[in-house]
Amino acid sequence: MRLPLLNSRLAGMGTTIFAEMSALATATGAINLGQGFPDTDGPSEIAQAAADAILTGKGNQYPPGPGIPELRQAVAGHQKRFYGLDYDPDTEVLITAGATEAIAATLLALLEPGDEVIAFEPYYDSYAACIAMAGAARVPLTLRAPTFRPDLEALRDLVTSRTRVIMLNSPQNPTGMVLTADELAAIAELACERDLLVVTDEVYEHLVYDGTHIPIASLPGMRDRTVTISSGGKTFSFTGWKVGWVTAPPPLLSAVRTAKQFLTYVSSGPFQYATAKALELPDSYYTDLRDSHRRKRDLLATGLTEAGLHVYQPAGTYFITTDVSSLGESDGHAFCRALPQRCGVVAIPNVVFYDNTEVGRSQVRFAFCKNDEILAQAATRLKTLHRTA
Ligand code: PMP
Ligand code: GLN
Repeated sequence: MRLPLLNSRLAGMGTTIFAEMSALATATGAINLGQGFPDTDGPSEIAQAAADAILTGKGNQYPPGPGIPELRQAVAGHQKRFYGLDYDPDTEVLITAGATEAIAATLLALLEPGDEVIAFEPYYDSYAACIAMAGAARVPLTLRAPTFRPDLEALRDLVTSRTRVIMLNSPQNPTGMVLTADELAAIAELACERDLLVVTDEVYEHLVYDGTHIPIASLPGMRDRTVTISSGGKTFSFTGWKVGWVTAPPPLLSAVRTAKQFLTYVSSGPFQYATAKALELPDSYYTDLRDSHRRKRDLLATGLTEAGLHVYQPAGTYFITTDVSSLGESDGHAFCRALPQRCGVVAIPNVVFYDNTEVGRSQVRFAFCKNDEILAQAATRLKTLHRTA
């Protein structure tokens, strides 16, 4: 048998850090502030809608390839309600198995081997894997502490004749950075000037505490070259349902759909009905979600600071990036592996999201999408940590 079995494109991408750290939390009984999932489910009427869909035979058999019409209309309605963007539910909206499949389908559809994708590191792990599976090359623009703002001159310098896509994620996992109107305008200008596609992952669009979320598709010249990706996981606190979506003009959407139909074909039938209902929740649902998470952010940030960690205050997402060198530690990965034994908490080392690993070596991410009591308990445990040097 020819070895190694895992092909060279995926070499070194063993088990995701989220699976590794959640398994560690289960094995040790530690509080899991690693993988980002809420410990409280979303609205009960939305859960009821999923149960009703199953029991009344809605979506139990293959739903339509592009997604059920009710959900495509609800996604289009959401883009209009929050951003004034018009998308045709029939030709410009595609339902996917979470944002994860949307990212995979988009990159597999749009990239040729040898193409370059500029992405802002630290980046969400599936970007690197999907770019690799497409045979393309990732080109990192490094975001640096303390602000994690992109260096737009450096971005311009990274564009070559092989650049095909700029990949954005705002609000950004893991740093919590939210791109400003000026930054988005500069990126849009560059994309238009160099005729680049933009793929934008906006799964944390409703979790912005400072500033506002602006979809780059709403900027002049951008609608025709942008694939926008989001999902219901974070917005409705049902990360296990895996209902995601893509909005893009017809030629881009049709390319993404071509790849998507050979990945899952379709998924999550009954959950598509429930997510359609969720997207139509009143504005108050969305503001309450944001306000409760802003409070949780502040609660955990205070706890982490009191525990001696250096906190980089996030403007969005449900993650706080810290620097453990304030505790005398230099290796975030080793810190995270030892943390459950040392004080019963699990966190994620940001270094795994970097190509330039030196930059992220001492950064550690904590999730705050948890009950207040759990956050307080985690903070109490972290305060037992002592400086190692
Ligand atoms: N993008 C980012 C930035 C994420 O943090 C996540 C994780 N939830 C995803 C995509 C995947 O989203 P989904 O669960 O909808 O597949
Ligand atoms: N998006 C979640 C996080 O960043 C994890 C999703 C996953 O496990 N792939 O923590």
